[in-house]
Amino acid sequence: MVAECRETRARAGLLHTPHGTVETPVFMPVGTQATVKGLTARDLAEDLDVRILLANTYHLYLRPGPDLIREMGGLHRFMSWPNAILTDSGGYQVFSLSGLRKITDDGVRFQSHLNGDSHTFTPESTVDAQLAFGSDILMALDECPEYPASHEYARESMRRTLRWARQAAEHHRRRLQESPTRHALFPIVQGSMYRDLRRECAAALLDLDADGYAIGGLSVGEPRPLSMEMVEASEDILPRSRPRYAMGVGMPAELPEYVARGVDMMDCVLPTRNARNGCLFTSQGRVVIKHARYRDDPRPLDETCQCYTCRKYSRAYLRHLFQAGEILYAVLATRHNIQRYLDIMREIRHAIISNRYPEYLRTVRLASSDAA
Ligand SMILES: [Zn+2]
Repeated sequence: MVAECRETRARAGLLHTPHGTVETPVFMPVGTQATVKGLTARDLAEDLDVRILLANTYHLYLRPGPDLIREMGGLHRFMSWPNAILTDSGGYQVFSLSGLRKITDDGVRFQSHLNGDSHTFTPESTVDAQLAFGSDILMALDECPEYPASHEYARESMRRTLRWARQAAEHHRRRLQESPTRHALFPIVQGSMYRDLRRECAAALLDLDADGYAIGGLSVGEPRPLSMEMVEASEDILPRSRPRYAMGVGMPAELPEYVARGVDMMDCVLPTRNARNGCLFTSQGRVVIKHARYRDDPRPLDETCQCYTCRKYSRAYLRHLFQAGEILYAVLATRHNIQRYLDIMREIRHAIISNRYPEYLRTVRLASSDAA
C-alpha cells in the first residue's frame, strides 16, 4: 500500500508478480484468446505501458489447450508477453457461452461452444490448466449465477463456490510445492445481488488467507447501483492488506466509483469491443465515429490524448476507415480506447497519492452527470 484516501475506501498500491510490479488501482485489458484483439505485445507493453493483462481459461482450455501452451513454454512465451498475466477460472464463460451444462458438487460439465465436445471443469482441473499456462494470478473456479436469481438458489450456488474455492486452494497449495515460481490464487466472492450472502461468502473466504480476493458475479444485467452495493457489502470484510479485484467492470465513469469502494483491479471488454463497434471514449465523452458530423472533421479524436492514433490521425480518417471496414480502424480505435482507460487509472492513482481523491471524484461525477 502506497497511499490511502482519508474519506473514501480508495487506495494506491504496488502489486508484485513474478513478471513485474503493477501499480494499482489498475485496469487490465482483456486478451481473451491470448491476444488483445488488434494490438501487438509491443503496442501494449512498450507504447501503452500495460503491466498486466487478462486471458480467458475457458477459451484457451478449449483451443489450443493447456498441454500445447505448456509445451510452447507457457502463455507468456507463447504470446510473447513480458509482463504479468491474470487468468480467470473459466466459470463465467461456462455459464454464459456454453449451451448445455450440468452443475454438480464436483464441478461443471459443459459442451464446447466450438464443436459441442463434452468437458468437465473441477476446482482442481482449472488450477492445473492455469498452472500449465504459467499465469501469475489464477482464479478459483466459481459459479456465476444468472441475474436475477432467487435467494435460495443464490445461497446454494454461493456455498458451492465456497467449497470449490477451498478445494482449489488446497490443490493449489499442493501443486505449488513442486513449483519454483510463485503463482497467486484468488478466490471469488459470489452471492448474486444479496447483501447477506455476499457478506457470508467474503467472511468464509478469509479462512483461506488468499493472496488476493475477487468480487465476481457483477455486470450480469443488474442495475449499476446494485453492483456498487454488492462491492460495498463484500469489501469491508476483505483484508485491507490484500488486492481486491472487481471482475468484468466497467464504464469509464464507473472506474473511479469502484476505486472509491476499495477496488484495486478491474477488467472489462468494453474499451476493446466498443472500439471495434465504433464507440470511442474520450476525455470529452463518447464519440460514435460513424456519425456524419465526423465526415470532414480534421481534429484528432481526443485533443488531450497522447496515443499514436490521436497524434497521427483525424476523426475524418478514422470514420473513413470504419465505414470502409478496414482492419486498421480496429487497430487504431483499440489503441486509443485502451490509452483512455489507462489515462483514467493514472489520474485516479495520482489523485489518491496527492491526497485529493474526494475532490477528483466530485469532478468526474459532475462531468458524467453533465454528459448524461
Ligand atoms: Zn488517443
